[in-house]
Amino acid sequence: PLNCGIVGLPNVGKSTIFNALTSAKAQAANYPFCTIDPNTGVVTVPDPRLDKITAFVKPNRTIPTTMEFIDIAGLVEGASKGEGLGNQFLGHIRSTDAVCHVVRCFADPEVIHVAGGVNPLHDIDIINTELLLADLDSVEKRYGRIEKQLKGTSAEHKVRTEGSALEKLLEALRDGRPARTVELTEEEKPFMRDLHLITMKPVLYVANVDEDGLTGHNPWVDAVEGRAKEDGSQVVRICGSMESEIAQLEPSERAEFLEGMGLEEPGLNRLIHSAYRLLDLITYFTAGVQEVRAWTIRRGTKGPGAAGVIHSDFEKGFIKADCYHCDDLFKYGSEQAVKEKGLLRSEGKEYIVKDGDILFFKFNV
Ligand code: GDP
Repeated sequence: PLNCGIVGLPNVGKSTIFNALTSAKAQAANYPFCTIDPNTGVVTVPDPRLDKITAFVKPNRTIPTTMEFIDIAGLVEGASKGEGLGNQFLGHIRSTDAVCHVVRCFADPEVIHVAGGVNPLHDIDIINTELLLADLDSVEKRYGRIEKQLKGTSAEHKVRTEGSALEKLLEALRDGRPARTVELTEEEKPFMRDLHLITMKPVLYVANVDEDGLTGHNPWVDAVEGRAKEDGSQVVRICGSMESEIAQLEPSERAEFLEGMGLEEPGLNRLIHSAYRLLDLITYFTAGVQEVRAWTIRRGTKGPGAAGVIHSDFEKGFIKADCYHCDDLFKYGSEQAVKEKGLLRSEGKEYIVKDGDILFFKFNV
């Protein structure tokens, strides 16, 4: 499954948020593979549509879809030079699909700030500099390997294309701009993919605020939002310490607590949804009397690929899928009614599955 790595300076609230995410999960579903290793948490993706489908279909069980968060602690200044456990941490980040960058936007004199005082932009720069330097190192190494050929007059087209991609990347990274902001031609893009650059990954800044910073104006959050705009990322504002309290509550108490705070849902839900969007993921459903279940695919996935998330045999033997949208179920009340309205279609191998589709696969075994 696709995952999101949580990074940030020490003491900004990473573990607090990670623990809240993973302990809240335990109550949401008894999922078979929730303990992979202590730093990886499988989190259920809250989806009110799944509850609504369940209410209509009344299955024996309902299974939400999940995504993974990985707590990547210990990224400090100097990591890109291999200081401390730096290289190992960069390696972990390299293997994630997206980055959640937790930034301290709360004061609390009780909690020591490793860089002197609360200053979100400064903190962001420390982390981002390490990531940029790590990428710069990768690009420079690669460039060094083709430099000789590039200087020759007979350099192949392929080498020259790679050369120009690398030069654009070098310029940006040396200038402090992440690789994801670099515009490459279609021909150049594959060369970048091979480099597995960290600053290519989509980033979500998590502004960790105090309770009273959740609503209203907060100059620290403003600063983070400004930065996010510049470097093409997203921001979510949550209060880590409050989330950890909410996560410990019984589900019944939880609703009461949220209402008392004037909140509709835990901040973690917003975090999970933002990370899901960041990864460009969507959800489709299967809905039978045995089981109603949500499944995750990348946006743009076609029928067979969507079936493959359930089982590789479904993908190999894919014939077609009966398909309708959950909104039609909510509107007309039953699959039968949807069918009578002519809204149940049969889709083939080229069908691009949509968020909220309810699918029933037909396949050869
Ligand atoms: P990490 O080093 O980034 O993993 O940070 P931790 O999650 O261990 O948090 C560091 C300290 O900050 C702990 O004492 C937390 O209780 C505290 N903390 C985390 N989130 C918040 C928050 O939203 N508000 C306040 N006041 N303290 C927080």
